[in-house]
Amino acid sequence: MICERTMSLLKATTSLSKIGFDFDGVIADSLPAKIKLGRRLGFSITPDQTTSNILQKITGKSNYKNLVYLLYRKETLKFKPCEGIKTLIKKLKTHGCSLVIISARGKEESLFAQKWLKKQGLINFFDEIIFCAKQDKPKIIKKYKLDVYIDDSAETLNPCPKNVIKVLYDHYQISGLNCKRKKYLIIKDFKEIL
Ligand SMILES: [Mg+2]
Repeated sequence: MICERTMSLLKATTSLSKIGFDFDGVIADSLPAKIKLGRRLGFSITPDQTTSNILQKITGKSNYKNLVYLLYRKETLKFKPCEGIKTLIKKLKTHGCSLVIISARGKEESLFAQKWLKKQGLINFFDEIIFCAKQDKPKIIKKYKLDVYIDDSAETLNPCPKNVIKVLYDHYQISGLNCKRKKYLIIKDFKEIL
């Protein structure tokens, strides 16, 4: 099954196709900053505790609010790009792919994401940069007729349209653990696509 998916992924990434990317955790490596901010607030957090539900339980509501506020604003500018993502983006663009970002960041938070993309010299590689509510991602993926969509959250990939090749980027090996059925192609490294 995975083999078939890998084949179709290869096919899709080598022809003129539309590829969608989540921003946080796929393009920008937000997880180390989350852990660092947690520590600053006095909480020792492991990568598998960084999902919003768990993190909120550990830190409490008010600390969590504070952490998220900083993370998606000022701290964003300090994020590193996810390993190998810049090479992948440039390569896909050279192959004639159309690239789209679909992020669930809010209005103010989106400005920091755009600033980061400019700073990293990546903004011009994208044909569209869309910010929407998390639950609207499947609708946007359908609207833009994406062939491939990459996200770091299995929860987000679940409701995505069937005809889209779904890729779970699980660099820290935290989301893929709960995927019993292989509905997605799970990758730990973007080199696997390259
Ligand atoms: Mg994400």
